[in-house]
Amino acid sequence: MALPSGVKYAVIGAGIHGLSTAYHLALELKARGKGSGKDILVLDKTAIAAGASGIACGVVRNNYFQPAMRELMAHSVEVWESDPKSYSYHPVGYMQISPEVMHEGCASIYRQQKAIGYPSTFIEGEKDSMRYMTGIFDDWQARGITSVLHEKKGGYANNTASIYGLAAKAEGEGVRIMSGVEVTGFEFGGNNRAVTALLTSKGRIACDYVVVGAGPWVNRIWNLLDLPKTVSIKGRDGMMHHGVRMWKYWCLEEGTLGVDPDMHKTNDGSMPPVIHVDTDAPLHSDIDGSLITDKLWGLYYKPDFNFGGVQGGSSPYVVDQDPDDVAIDPYGPDSPDFIVGDNFIHTWCSMLAHCQKRFEGKIGIYKKDEKSGGLGCFTPDSFPVFDVFRDNVFVIADSNHGYKMLGVGKLVAQEIAGEKSRLLEPFRFSRYAEGKLHPVSKSPFPWS
Ligand SMILES: Cc1cc2nc3c(=O)[nH]c(=O)nc-3n(C[C@H](O)[C@H](O)[C@H](O)COP(=O)(O)OP(=O)(O)OC[C@H]3O[C@@H](n4cnc5c(N)ncnc54)[C@H](O)[C@@H]3O)c2cc1C
Repeated sequence: MALPSGVKYAVIGAGIHGLSTAYHLALELKARGKGSGKDILVLDKTAIAAGASGIACGVVRNNYFQPAMRELMAHSVEVWESDPKSYSYHPVGYMQISPEVMHEGCASIYRQQKAIGYPSTFIEGEKDSMRYMTGIFDDWQARGITSVLHEKKGGYANNTASIYGLAAKAEGEGVRIMSGVEVTGFEFGGNNRAVTALLTSKGRIACDYVVVGAGPWVNRIWNLLDLPKTVSIKGRDGMMHHGVRMWKYWCLEEGTLGVDPDMHKTNDGSMPPVIHVDTDAPLHSDIDGSLITDKLWGLYYKPDFNFGGVQGGSSPYVVDQDPDDVAIDPYGPDSPDFIVGDNFIHTWCSMLAHCQKRFEGKIGIYKKDEKSGGLGCFTPDSFPVFDVFRDNVFVIADSNHGYKMLGVGKLVAQEIAGEKSRLLEPFRFSRYAEGKLHPVSKSPFPWS
């Protein structure tokens, strides 16, 4: 396909957000008689699903401590449910299994899920939690659990399959997707604000509107747009905190235990919900019984026929470097720096054994040959920024929450078509200066 000299809507990135926006924008334009998918061009420097969307664990859940996140996720779950086949979506449900320190937080999530009509069950107390869990898995053995939030919707989707499915839907609406074209700069109009053209590795493309869905590369695009490297944040203390870095990187650690995925079925032979456990019970090595940690820790896992085993991860770690210096490429499994090592394997397999007897002694069949893990780019408060910059650039920066956020592209498309979204409102960039921050949970994960 030849590079067009101009296009109405240019989308940077063929991941979940770029493609979802392109697909839904095509539908919006058609429905409003304002154009069609032929007005939209998606560019990706590598290929469809080459970024975080292509390596995500694929968990889709509602469980968030922040009301605005929960409402947004409920909307996204509906979009996943609208076409499970194309999106390779498995609606097996999701369980948040927690210690006492998170009990009240989870109780409030449950209350608010009821208020928005999101179906879930909440079990409280150590004995009842154990009874509930052994009713699902007879070998459940995690200690010190005092609440179980069982979401009946959500589950997981197969990462690359879902992104290819989304790309096919977009192309079916006439959207053009070009791989191997890197955006290297922007041209700005007379007022030096709006973007008038993209400069790419293959040439210049004039455009009216730009959508940025660059995932972990958002810091680079942000720099090319000449947006601020630091922000001022009005804190919960009412004071302004100046010079806070806009972006920081975390490395996500995930892997696959090479057991038969069927081994993780429930007592009644069904596919289990995605399991997420946070606990402050001491974690001991499944190899020699030594103490690994007595601090709050967490893991998540699911049987996955795509990965060929039980796949999941544990808490990520901060990459303590200036974001401009972080080596994002080669990305994901190809990275020499940001893939999991023996420490993760030992810890995560011990976590699995801590939770369920069936995983004891299985560390030897962890899939070491399949490299996994990858970088995520986070905002100052680790919540998404969905906003328009420079008059005509919609930046979708999901702060690494976003594979599950299939519906965000639909909302962004509606905004581009002229309809403001109440659900996106709490994620504007101005919230930092205004001190409209989201509440913070006690979870050990930066995305709960
Ligand atoms: C290991 C891991 C596991 C995860 N698990 C989950 C999960 O279970 N559930 C969940 O909800 N989220 C999960 N996430 C987070 C989620 O994957 C991301 O938040 C989401 O996929 C980001 O989507 P995106 O479309 O913004 O970016 P990406 O999917 O990263 O796509 C960005 C695309 O932009 C392209 N690009 C970048 N720069 C340029 C440029 N200059 N020119 C042209 N193209 C460019 C890239 O090649 C890439 O294809 C996980 C993340 C990781 C790393």
